[in-house]
Amino acid sequence: MAPPDALIVGAGPAGLSAAIALRAAGADVIVLEQHPSPPPRVCGAFINPEGAAHLETLGVMPRLSDAAAPVTDATLTWAGGGRGRVPIARSARAGLAVPRPVLERAMAEHLAAVGGRIRWNARVTGAERRGCIWAVEVMSGTVPDRLVAPWLVVADGRFSSLSGRRVSKTRAGWFGWNASFTGVDQPPGALSLHFGRHGYVGLLTFLDGTTNVCGLTRRDAAATASWEAVLAEAIDELPALSSLLRPATRVDAFRGVGPLPFSRRMWTADGPLLGGDAAAVGDPYMGEGISRALGTGPALTAALGRGGLEGSPLAMSDRYNAVWRHRYHPRLRFGTVARWMLGHPRLSPSALTQVVSHPFLLRLVLSLTHATRS
Ligand SMILES: Cc1cc2nc3c(=O)[nH]c(=O)nc-3n(C[C@H](O)[C@H](O)[C@H](O)COP(=O)(O)OP(=O)(O)OC[C@H]3O[C@@H](n4cnc5c(N)ncnc54)[C@H](O)[C@@H]3O)c2cc1C
Repeated sequence: MAPPDALIVGAGPAGLSAAIALRAAGADVIVLEQHPSPPPRVCGAFINPEGAAHLETLGVMPRLSDAAAPVTDATLTWAGGGRGRVPIARSARAGLAVPRPVLERAMAEHLAAVGGRIRWNARVTGAERRGCIWAVEVMSGTVPDRLVAPWLVVADGRFSSLSGRRVSKTRAGWFGWNASFTGVDQPPGALSLHFGRHGYVGLLTFLDGTTNVCGLTRRDAAATASWEAVLAEAIDELPALSSLLRPATRVDAFRGVGPLPFSRRMWTADGPLLGGDAAAVGDPYMGEGISRALGTGPALTAALGRGGLEGSPLAMSDRYNAVWRHRYHPRLRFGTVARWMLGHPRLSPSALTQVVSHPFLLRLVLSLTHATRS
């Protein structure tokens, strides 16, 4: 069989977006994913309006119409009884509440429908450029294999091993965790974020009535408290969270991950194109990680330009990195400052009060976080 034009590592939103866009440009693509199917993820699952626009551009939206609840605003509460509401919809486009496996299944189905291929259970163990060609080592179960292609997109997530991004090993840091609940006292499409001493808890309710309860907590890697205990502590501290969760029942296991390797800028690798978290890990409460991942394909399309796949992969890689930096660097920097403020016990409540009660500040923050940019 002839080698494909592009190999893509990772079937998360970044890898699938890249594959759909390259396929639309006429490329023969193969996505390599280590899991046997879209797995549950530690993620809030909120897609901002920019991400919804990317799903339209990629042609995936019709496959989500029965599963996506529109999210038009978010309720914020914080310790001490503070409460505010922030608009999410931008230029009449709402955000979306879609369970992660549903989103990824819809994208994988769309990719298959347009002629792209996915190899599940295929873990990439190494990649090397030889002249103009990438040679990629793959383990399919226990069977080793080697694939070659002129284009390589690395979209292997926040702890990327193939991007060359160095992740410093810290003991303390921000940990993410989540679990699904039924019976939470908020309707489909409702998003509420509850800020406390150790971080925040976000509740996002899907069309089927289940709610993803997802938190970000600062702690030491050696800490032994279970995620259930971490949530119980937040419930004790935050009355609004307590009243929403009082009637609720947990329906799956807690999942946790950390410390999270946040980035201030894009990691640029020598050669492969990096997508989504492999390029940079942003702050969950910015609500744009999925959107940035979904933007991988549209950014590749913009970088390919009119020359399409005929141009040089290296020149295209430079253009892609420039598109990426222009779109996301200011927001990554803003996220770093916002994370510092939210982690500060004194600044956090007053910063939130100021932002939520001053329309000018609120507009500024929203333009930096949920802006819809072409
Ligand atoms: C606590 C928390 C809450 C969050 N909440 C939100 C939110 O509400 N909204 C939002 O927009 N963002 C949120 N994010 C961020 C969001 O989850 C990520 O930005 C997004 O998942 C990035 O997508 P990706 O495709 O880059 O990576 P991933 O979704 O991680 O996908 C990477 C894929 O690569 C595969 N892979 C890895 N290594 C290999 C290998 N060697 N070979 C083959 N396959 C491999 C993995 O199995 C995986 O399927 C949150 C993050 C955290 C931690």
